[in-house]
Amino acid sequence: MPEIYLKVDSAYPEDQGAGKARLDPDTMLQLRLSPGDLVLIEGKRPTVAKVWRAMVNDWHQGKVRIDNFTRLNTGASIGDRVKIRTLDEEVEAKRVVLAPPEDLPKQLPINFSNAVNKLIDFPVMKNDSVPIQAGLPFMQPQLVAFKAVMIEPENAVIITRNTKIEFSEKPAAGFEGVKRISYEDIGGLKGELQRVRETIELPMRHPEIFRKLGIEPPKGVLLYGPPGTGKTLIAKAVASESGAHFISIAGPEVISKYYGESEQRLREVFEEARQNAPAIIFIDELDSIAPRREEVTGEVERRVVAQLLTMMDGLEERGQVVVIGATNRLDAIDPALRRPGRFDREIEIGVPPEDDRAQVLQIHTRGMPLADDVDIGYIAQQTHGFVGADLAALAREAAIKALRRYLPEIDMEAEEIPPETLEKMEVVSKDFREALRD
Ligand code: ADP
Repeated sequence: MPEIYLKVDSAYPEDQGAGKARLDPDTMLQLRLSPGDLVLIEGKRPTVAKVWRAMVNDWHQGKVRIDNFTRLNTGASIGDRVKIRTLDEEVEAKRVVLAPPEDLPKQLPINFSNAVNKLIDFPVMKNDSVPIQAGLPFMQPQLVAFKAVMIEPENAVIITRNTKIEFSEKPAAGFEGVKRISYEDIGGLKGELQRVRETIELPMRHPEIFRKLGIEPPKGVLLYGPPGTGKTLIAKAVASESGAHFISIAGPEVISKYYGESEQRLREVFEEARQNAPAIIFIDELDSIAPRREEVTGEVERRVVAQLLTMMDGLEERGQVVVIGATNRLDAIDPALRRPGRFDREIEIGVPPEDDRAQVLQIHTRGMPLADDVDIGYIAQQTHGFVGADLAALAREAAIKALRRYLPEIDMEAEEIPPETLEKMEVVSKDFREALRD
């Protein structure tokens, strides 16, 4: 049976949650595949995906683009090599049982009949994570991973109209499906993300390379730039994509006026990281925890800085525990913290240029019913100076404007909004214009 090795890359924004594998025409020819066929992807584990044609820019590079669900299912990260094979037979599932993740919040609404509709024709194997759309039908959607805990017959690979889909009440043990942020959730910042991955993910996943070359993996990385540009998002994505334990603390929250409490808190955080390594400790607003010594007025800050230095100097995990600090003001950080062996890598996360803004908008309108007159490129052009958080707010605001137009037709008392009403709802260009004006 024909097979081929390809390098994994991230999915196009519009493919998120679609179960697709984007291949170039050469590969498709070699494996005798057509769009819509299923392929077996073998990383650490096998999974299936639906073949789709890659865009021209991606041809002849020996790569396959799959989203974070498929990457998780096959146990591969971006940059890993996976084996792609054709299937003998596309066996249809008679029955699939999907279990919710353990971290599913009670108040997150899921429209199960809608979810089932979206799964028709979806590739799946036993124990795969399956994307289920949660959130109100109209607002920013969120894809939640459910786990296919049972599938009949066992060798089935695709859900069809005839598949009986059941949702189990009991969550899949040890399975998290909500908080995962992936690289596809980050718009733009390609070069920055690449650097973050080289600096943090590589030593975390392949400490042997660093050992062999005799170089020290970094203990600390500083992300600096204006608020709302995606620093937290990057830290979370790197943690979830590299399977690292993630601990987030905000600088001001550590500062306690009670003697010794701040130091104690820091020690606990580092201990938790050590026990759960590989781990990433994210310290937001690092400048507040570690202001320049000459600026320090309080004794507390001085002690917290000293404690943080001690903890970082004591890290012996060789890249298995990394501290990511975020700040808006690089110059407000204590120089002692920026010495070698501490936060010795600095990556700027700046205000996004137009192309990046378009990507961010695409991510935040993903799954919104956009009318044909909405031109993301044009909105990106009109939003000079907006950071990621502003663009996310803009998309949300446009959806609210749209919602207001439909409110008169909606009966608030009714148990369920009629499907016809939901069906015709759209966010139009004017909603964005008005959202921009406010
Ligand atoms: P920072 O840590 O730099 O202050 P965050 O990462 O917390 O900013 O961003 C806040 C929110 O803004 C995110 O949760 C996300 O919704 C949105 N956002 C910011 N930057 C981006 C980006 N590059 N791509 C997609 N969304 C973004």
